[in-house]
Amino acid sequence: MREEDCIFCKIANGGIPSETIYEDDMFRVIMDLGPASKGHALILPKQHYRDICDLDEEMAAKVLPLAAKIGAAMKKALGCSGFNVVQNNGKEAGQTVFHFHVHLIPRYEEGPAMVSWMPGKASPEELAQTGAAIRSAL
Ligand code: AMP
Ligand code: ZN
Repeated sequence: MREEDCIFCKIANGGIPSETIYEDDMFRVIMDLGPASKGHALILPKQHYRDICDLDEEMAAKVLPLAAKIGAAMKKALGCSGFNVVQNNGKEAGQTVFHFHVHLIPRYEEGPAMVSWMPGKASPEELAQTGAAIRSAL
């Protein structure tokens, strides 16, 4: 399924040109236009899924091996020492394009520095209560 007004549907299916680094029958991997670091890429499925909760099992099973393949190529080609796999779900989580995608962000010893979360604090009771709430919804 594709959505008429979805920019990533158009890019993934070749309707809008992109700097493509990998393509197969299910995915296109492109360079992000606003890279967090040199080499920042996006894995786009050709089918439209809104977010991770919308994926079917076949797609879900293929996306992490592809992330590993592209990440390994980044390390070889760009000399990054590692890479982040980032995937945002929902506006509050930072999702701005509502077509499932995975960010691959090369990380270099010399930077750039990137913001991460600050570790917080939670009591064992709080962890138990929160854990129980999630378990009961599975
Ligand atoms: P997210 O915030 O997780 O939804 O990420 C959306 C990402 O898509 C951002 O990193 C943008 O820089 C990137 N982006 C948006 N439009 C384009 C485009 N036309 N081509 C390449 N990357 C894009
Ligand atoms: Zn789409």
